[in-house]
Amino acid sequence: MRMFQVCTCGEPLQLNEAPTPEPKGTEVLLKVIAAGVCHSDLHLAEGFFDLGGGKKMSLADRGMKLPVTLGHENVGEVIALGPDAKGIKVGQKVLANPWIGCGQCAACQRGDDNLCRAMKSLGVFSNGGYATHVIIPHSKYLHDIGDLSPERAAPLACSGVTTFGALKKVPTLKNEPTIIIGAGGLGLMCLALHQKMGGHSAIVVDIDDAKLAQAKKAGAKAIVNAIAADAVQQVMKLTDQGAGAWAVIDLVGSSQSARLGYDSLVKGGKYIVVGLYGGDLTVSLPPIPMRALTIQGSYVGSQHEMKELMELVKAKGMPDVPVATRPLEDVNAVHGELRAGKIVGRVVLTPAA
Ligand SMILES: [Zn+2]
Ligand SMILES: [Zn+2]
Repeated sequence: MRMFQVCTCGEPLQLNEAPTPEPKGTEVLLKVIAAGVCHSDLHLAEGFFDLGGGKKMSLADRGMKLPVTLGHENVGEVIALGPDAKGIKVGQKVLANPWIGCGQCAACQRGDDNLCRAMKSLGVFSNGGYATHVIIPHSKYLHDIGDLSPERAAPLACSGVTTFGALKKVPTLKNEPTIIIGAGGLGLMCLALHQKMGGHSAIVVDIDDAKLAQAKKAGAKAIVNAIAADAVQQVMKLTDQGAGAWAVIDLVGSSQSARLGYDSLVKGGKYIVVGLYGGDLTVSLPPIPMRALTIQGSYVGSQHEMKELMELVKAKGMPDVPVATRPLEDVNAVHGELRAGKIVGRVVLTPAA
């Protein structure tokens, strides 16, 4: 098998070869058909997240061991089963849920693998799909894609379930506008799923007019450029009685986006941070109880949310998010383009093509 690995943090991914693994126990071997390139892969390749104020969170400290094959948005064809693998057949085309926990702790027992303290996520803590083949530890992490296109289905594993998990945390989804900060790949996915979930309306905020125009075309009720000095007032004006937002989903997660999102809340409102751009937020404490505000983090999605998302897209159709395919060998070039902000929508690598 061939795979692109992080060998040294901050260096381009390295092409390595190894014997194709034989699945053991409950493991399932997939031939990778489609592997989405996610913005967080850039952080993984660099080896850290920016915590703001000059502080960094090292991924090595969080258990990332090198070399590791990146790629956590994978669709593949089942080509071999371990002796104890059940509920899956050779030849099936499947989406792999990469958010895999230890399987033992209380969170994993509930299916909240995304809250496990010892995650083994594919493409982060274990080898992922920037490769010709990938091993999945158990068939419970695999979802048959049916007639869905592999390239379009792959982003559901991260971009899809991450925005779905955040949208599920919005109690007012069907009754009030939801503010979505970020109109990149994640933003367009969030907007599309918001519509499929029967969301009331979405107001999309970004600093890029071209991306905002795309969000408007994709059905955003209103758009706001965050560079404007009165961006908070503009957002609030678009809410019920101009009082502020019941829910803000921040897909950027920078100091600036957090400030804007938090300051746009109405009494009782919820600021949900998803993006991992990096930075910090200083807030006064008394308004949190007095205005009953919630600050909530949302990290990918649970096993239940992944399953529910697959059912939603099978019933209501795939989110109409732009997807471009590229050969596996282009991965470093794609990372460069993503870092430069040149990619609209999602790029999916096609190792089997
Ligand atoms: Zn991702
Ligand atoms: Zn666990």
